[in-house]
Amino acid sequence: MLEVEGLTKYYGHKRAVNQVSFRIEQGEIIGLLGLNGSGKTTLLRILAGNLLPTAGRVTVGGVDLLQDPHEVKKNLSFLPETPPLYGDMKVRPYLRFVGRLKGMDRASVRDRLPAIEEQTAIAHVGDEIIGHLSFGYRQRVAIAMALLHEPQLLLLDEPASGLDPVQIVEMRQLIRSLRGNHTVILSSHLLPEISQICDRILMIQDGRIIGEGPEEELAQRFTRKIRVRMQVRGTRAEIEECLRDVPEVEEIEWVREEDGCPGFVLGLSEDVRESISLKLSSRGLGLLEMARTDLDLENTFLRLMLKEEEPS
Ligand code: ADP
Repeated sequence: MLEVEGLTKYYGHKRAVNQVSFRIEQGEIIGLLGLNGSGKTTLLRILAGNLLPTAGRVTVGGVDLLQDPHEVKKNLSFLPETPPLYGDMKVRPYLRFVGRLKGMDRASVRDRLPAIEEQTAIAHVGDEIIGHLSFGYRQRVAIAMALLHEPQLLLLDEPASGLDPVQIVEMRQLIRSLRGNHTVILSSHLLPEISQICDRILMIQDGRIIGEGPEEELAQRFTRKIRVRMQVRGTRAEIEECLRDVPEVEEIEWVREEDGCPGFVLGLSEDVRESISLKLSSRGLGLLEMARTDLDLENTFLRLMLKEEEPS
């Protein structure tokens, strides 16, 4: 349904999104999880067609976002962290107005409104002024607005931000009720807020997707796996050849090259750094750097899991 390939975004010299690739199937609910500043909003804004990427490709339902943004936008809704609501309008007239803006005719808006009001539990506040509603209700009106034209893809940036725990549970139920009919990506910097709603989680750190899968799988991966960052003087082929028969090496991720020497991160089932360093030396491959990084990832994951304040 959604395919993202090599997406990169620079703001000046600052790289906010770095070679992001993933696929999402129709009807899935995906959590985009990362600390503040990790690139979530930038990524969602690109997917929504509100921001041009520096490089990469996005297709929604087979249509290329960059080549045909109007067609793609008909089929999606993006809800920013602070949704754009007109505070001095009443809820129902506002939704009618939004429906018309989205290209729906009067009759379709009229037919669609009762169902959407029921789904988002706002029917009883239809005649209230938006600015007088509680934050939780305003958020529901925003979701009603996003769902009005029945978009297939819904992008929600930190939808639980600012909600109290009861409202978070209600928001979860609402988003869960969309499963199957809509494809949803929602972002958060706190795992508990999106835990249980999402079929899969994409973990983003410094603009890169560092993990992908159901929550339990990620928890195992980030709390058990040994990761070692390395730089070696030699070619990729020589390094791969050397490490091929080390059973503890589960994956090699190439990261960057410095002074012509490949950099990579090894995923290991056991800490066999010593034997790897000996093996590389015996093949004449110079070891320039070797450092365990799994603890960083573990910390990141734990910080995302716990409701802990982190520096912005
Ligand atoms: P998140 O949504 O995860 O908090 P953002 O996508 O907002 O992350 O930001 C990612 C990085 O890009 C941050 O370092 C942020 O400071 C930077 N950034 C975001 N927007 C801009 C902008 N308009 N100009 C320059 N840098 C930006």
